Amino acid sequence: TKHTSIKEGKAEILLKTDQVFYNPVQEFNRDLSIAVLTIFTNDYKAEQLEKNEKFAKNSKYKEKVDTEVDITILEALSATGLRSIRYAKEVPNITKIVANDLSPQAVDTIKENIVHNDVKDLIETSQDDACMLMYKHKQYWKRFVAIDLDPYGCPSVFLDAAVQSIQEGGLLLVTATDMAVLAGNTPETCYSKYGAISLKTKCCHEMALRILLQCIESHANRYSRYIVPLLSISADFYIRVFVRVFTGAIHCKKTTSKLAMVYHCTGCDNITLQPMGGFKPNPTEKNPAQMKAYLPTAPPVGEFCVNCNQRHHLGGPIWSAPIHDEIFVTRVLTHVENNPELFGTAKRIAGVLAMVREELQDVPLYYTMDRLFGRVHLETMPMLVMRSALLNSGYKVSYSHASRMSIKTAAPSQVVWDIIRTW
Ligand code: SAM
Repeated sequence: TKHTSIKEGKAEILLKTDQVFYNPVQEFNRDLSIAVLTIFTNDYKAEQLEKNEKFAKNSKYKEKVDTEVDITILEALSATGLRSIRYAKEVPNITKIVANDLSPQAVDTIKENIVHNDVKDLIETSQDDACMLMYKHKQYWKRFVAIDLDPYGCPSVFLDAAVQSIQEGGLLLVTATDMAVLAGNTPETCYSKYGAISLKTKCCHEMALRILLQCIESHANRYSRYIVPLLSISADFYIRVFVRVFTGAIHCKKTTSKLAMVYHCTGCDNITLQPMGGFKPNPTEKNPAQMKAYLPTAPPVGEFCVNCNQRHHLGGPIWSAPIHDEIFVTRVLTHVENNPELFGTAKRIAGVLAMVREELQDVPLYYTMDRLFGRVHLETMPMLVMRSALLNSGYKVSYSHASRMSIKTAAPSQVVWDIIRTW
């Protein structure tokens, strides 16, 4: 048998067989997850302590403030255990990690690596189907504060169990690597897996993130829970989202107002969002019963494109609300910038997060320069010229971290086409 040893972060992993999955390209994914978990566990602990204090103060029995906060993490598909071991050694505040895998060889490897890295106190192993294990932790006192889902391909089969076995305000970390499905190569497969039709468009990477977020939200909603995205990343050949999960039936009613259908013009490649509508207070309505009626938030997008009169393709639904929490992202970025020695991929994380922070949050999806100009067979205008033209017309502009050639702007598509005509 082949013996390999791999060093990443503070972990050293021994691999005795090549039957256990290890992907060096995912170091960025693991580094980023450690940075996110560091800030998240800090916040979670502080929130929990505050809750405990309030509880003790309001209790008539004058109870002592509980200063213990358990931070438990489940890595549901652990393979070598590398991720769990790195979390144990590199994320502060953790009380317990469960490293699970269905494969007995994988669990043997995880066990050896736990000993090799001297993290027996923090990591427990489990050999089980990820869903079965999560269902066994549905009761709120058994739930995990964070659950990491890093499967091969599509994560959707694990979501029903995951959204039920996560603590109130807990963090779900989800990877999807089936980019062909999410990026529009097989829209009907995307519908059956994620409940949304993908489209082959210039902005398919951000659309993939928004399809995954929509999918997690719909799973959460079944149990009166909802998500709040902290950070959503497209990188290499995968996407990765970090979302908090909360409970509240009233909040679930707001889900439709965070979703949109996507109209994609087959002629000029233009994209128009059709908001799904939602319960919005209507200040001009006198009848209180009608005040909060279900309102469409925009007139229906037509069958034909307003720019070129060609037919639309219909995709979605996608998550159309913000996909990052700006304040949270800034804190993760500051942490990585102040401690670059902690992360092998610190430079890349800092670069990506700096772009993420600048993204226009109220503008889902984006144009790309090559596609815009390719459609009209013109040489591509320099990015800077396009950006200043949009800014001069009074519209905000940003990049998306998901594409180097991207332009996010709230400008109507007619304005963008007018700028192209002047070129
Ligand atoms: N998270 C790991 C990392 O960062 O190195 C990589 C995980 S690997 C992509 C996927 C793993 O999931 C494999 O080791 C496989 O044995 C395991 N697996 C597949 N289906 C599973 C299931 N239903 N329950 C638990 N583990 C499963």
